[in-house]
Amino acid sequence: MKKSIYWFRKNLRLKDNPSLFNAIKDNDEVIFIYIIDLQTYNPNGLDIHEIGDFRKKFIMESVLDLEKNLKSKKIHLHVFEGDKFKILEEIRSSHGIDTIYCSKEVGWYEEEDEKKLIDKNFELIMSEDPHLIEERELPFNLDNLPLIFTPFRKKVEKNSKIRNEIRELPTIKKAILNTDLKFLSKIEVNDIINHSNTAYPFEGGERNALKRLKSYLWESHNIAKYKETRNGLIGTEYSSKFSAYLSTGSISPVTIYHEIKKFEKEVKKNSSTYWLIFELMWREFFRYVTKKGKKNIFMINGINGNIFNKNFNSDIKLFKKWCNGETGQEFIDANMIELNSTGFMSNRGRQNVASYLINDLDLNWTWGAAYFESKLIDYDVSSNWCNWMYMAGVGNNVRNWAFNPSKQSEMYDKVGKFRSLWLNKKIGQQIIDF
Ligand SMILES: Cc1cc2nc3c(=O)[nH]c(=O)nc-3n(C[C@H](O)[C@H](O)[C@H](O)COP(=O)(O)OP(=O)(O)OC[C@H]3O[C@@H](n4cnc5c(N)ncnc54)[C@H](O)[C@@H]3O)c2cc1C
Repeated sequence: MKKSIYWFRKNLRLKDNPSLFNAIKDNDEVIFIYIIDLQTYNPNGLDIHEIGDFRKKFIMESVLDLEKNLKSKKIHLHVFEGDKFKILEEIRSSHGIDTIYCSKEVGWYEEEDEKKLIDKNFELIMSEDPHLIEERELPFNLDNLPLIFTPFRKKVEKNSKIRNEIRELPTIKKAILNTDLKFLSKIEVNDIINHSNTAYPFEGGERNALKRLKSYLWESHNIAKYKETRNGLIGTEYSSKFSAYLSTGSISPVTIYHEIKKFEKEVKKNSSTYWLIFELMWREFFRYVTKKGKKNIFMINGINGNIFNKNFNSDIKLFKKWCNGETGQEFIDANMIELNSTGFMSNRGRQNVASYLINDLDLNWTWGAAYFESKLIDYDVSSNWCNWMYMAGVGNNVRNWAFNPSKQSEMYDKVGKFRSLWLNKKIGQQIIDF
């Protein structure tokens, strides 16, 4: 009789979930678990505490939806809070199970968890659930990962195969139910109300992720104009808004990829449909940069050293002004107020506020990245830290990437609609104090 633990990590879905498929297929009995973990990374000199309310809410909604979807398959999801090693030890001792199926996650701390479990004599059976392209499909080994995105993309587009979606889940033989475990917890969704101007009014969960995919592709066809709208600042439709669903793993990048290919066949193929795949390729590139760069992606000199000799000062007062949208630069302040009030900021906004922190305020970029980590509804370790490294010129960037926020707002917020939307509605944003 084969028994295993199935541990949901950042892959909160049933559809196209390779590790979940394997766990159900290979075992006679499985206990399904999720461990709540609300910690953030705090660089030197900064104490940001737990993750922000919007992200917490989105994650909890995603777990709640997962619980419901599993229930429809007669599977109970055990939700825990506490030390993951103690939790897994307790399950091992009460059920005599030492095999864990889970997704192979990207990130230094995530990989450390995996190593620690192996050291504690757990057998880990992992699949590359969060990837669009599996590592064995790369046309180079990780040591030879190109520093620059374009050669990575070109080589991968030419040589790598994107796998098919995983078939329907097999029927589970027996899902273990145990309500006596010490660290069992409840899923609590905080009841913060979305700001009326939010560009991310979406609820978490796999069903909502699939709904958004359907809406952005098949209902509105907005994907067909993505390349023209993607630098927008206001509303839900200027970009896909898949990011938070991808970060919780409520949808797989492979599902999105195949759906875009289907859309191209059945409705329209143009530079916009390609561009969304191009952006998913950036996400993929940064996942491998993280895998190769390990802990260095959190370090002030990044993976490439401080090649532009920037100052990166640790001035907490100035930093707080940036966080609270009180720098006096209206475009920057409006974007930061949007982030604080909703948990979301456009890609254009993110590039500008990061550049401002690095090039105009000469501040420590790791503080900015840590602040984003706590606030962003779609926080993802590699997308966040590698984009920040890139902007700071200590990552994959070989040119000094400084944005002029006045020029940027003239281009992207010509009549000031975005700025007035946030600068006039400052009331309600959470003021940050460390
Ligand atoms: C400083 C900075 C920090 C960022 N932090 C994060 C983060 O924590 N989590 C996150 O998901 N994205 C991050 N991004 C990337 C990007 O801004 C967001 O993915 C995007 O704005 C989310 O909106 P969307 O889903 O509508 O994106 P779309 O424009 O519709 O793009 C589709 C998908 O492609 C991927 N993608 C797009 N642009 C990028 C990019 N530059 N890098 C990596 N993947 C990308 C995302 O998964 C996104 O959901 C960051 C960018 C910057 C400049």
